[in-house]
Amino acid sequence: MSESSSEFLRRLPKAELHLHLEGTVTPETLVELSERHPAGRLTLEQARALYRYADFTGFLLAFKAITERLLSADDYELITWRMAQTLAAQGVAHAEVYVSVGVVYYWRRIEFEPLFAGMERARLRAEREFGISILWIFDAVRHFGVEEAARVFRKAAEMRREHPSIVGIGIGGDERRTGAEPFRELFAEARDAGLRLTAHAGETVGPEGIWGALNIGAERIGHGLSAEHDAELMEVLAERQVPVEICVTSNVRTGSCPSLSEHPVRRYFDSGLMITLNSDDPTLFGSDLLGEYGVVEQEFQFTQEQLRELAANSVEASFLLPERKVAMLRAIEDAAHE
Ligand SMILES: [Zn+2]
Repeated sequence: MSESSSEFLRRLPKAELHLHLEGTVTPETLVELSERHPAGRLTLEQARALYRYADFTGFLLAFKAITERLLSADDYELITWRMAQTLAAQGVAHAEVYVSVGVVYYWRRIEFEPLFAGMERARLRAEREFGISILWIFDAVRHFGVEEAARVFRKAAEMRREHPSIVGIGIGGDERRTGAEPFRELFAEARDAGLRLTAHAGETVGPEGIWGALNIGAERIGHGLSAEHDAELMEVLAERQVPVEICVTSNVRTGSCPSLSEHPVRRYFDSGLMITLNSDDPTLFGSDLLGEYGVVEQEFQFTQEQLRELAANSVEASFLLPERKVAMLRAIEDAAHE
C-alpha cells in the first residue's frame, strides 16, 4: 500500500523561509511567559482573545502584545526551542526566521544582544537534537521610520561578525504607511556588510510596493500577493527567478486575499515564478508549513512532483551555503523516490 500524501509531505525535507519567531508563540506559552513578568499577566482566555483579531491592524496589535511579553534571554530561549520542536515535527530541515528587532528597540528601548543569547542557545540545541538548521533575519518595522531601521540593520551587521547565524535583514510592518524607497541607502549598506536582503512587499498594497522592493535590491519578496495585477512585473519576477515567499493561509486570515480560492499561488507557479510556501505567523493564523503544503495540494491541485518542486525551491531560495543546499536537494530527491 502506498503511503498517504500527508506522510509523504511530512517526510519531504522542507525549508521555511518566511516565519516570524514571535508568530510561533502559542496562547499557552504566552500565559507561561506572562507569569514570569507579573506586570503583563494574562489568563488563557485573555491570551486566546488576543489571537482572535478581525483585520490586519488587529493582527499587528496581537503581534505587539506577544512581543511585549518577551523580556529576557530565557523567554527568547523558550520560544525558540518550542518553535524548533514544532518545525522538526513537520519535517522542516531548515528555517530562516524573522525576529522583530525593530519592535524591541522602538517599543521597549532595551538592548537586543542579551536577548539574542537565549535564541542562540535554543538554536544550537535544536541543531544538535534535531539536525535542523536555523538562520536569523533581523526585521525592522518600516513605519517606525528610517532611523529606527538603521539601528536594526547596523546591529545585525555588527553582531554578524561574531554570530554568522545572522544572515540577513528585512523590512516588515505596515506597507500602507511606508514603501521601500526610503530604505535604499540602508539596504546598500547592509549588503556591503555581507547581509542578505529581504522585504515584505505587495501584501497590503499594489504592485508598486513590489517594484519598490526590487528597486532597492531585495533578493526575496515576502508575500508578493499583488504582483499578478502587473503583467510586466510578473515577467520580471519569472525571468529573474526572484524568490517569492508565498503565505497562503496568512493572506486569507489577514484579509489581504479575499478568499482561499482567489489566491494566486497556482497562477504564480504556472507562470514560472520561483515560489516557496511559508507559514508566516503560524500560531496567529492557525496553520503551519506542513498545512500550507496540504492546502495547495488539496485546494490548488498541486501534484506530488510539483510539491517536491516547491520543497526544492525553498532550498534554492534559502541563504544556505552551497554545500548544505546540495545535500538538502539530494535528500528531497531521495524522499521522492523512496
Ligand atoms: Zn511576514
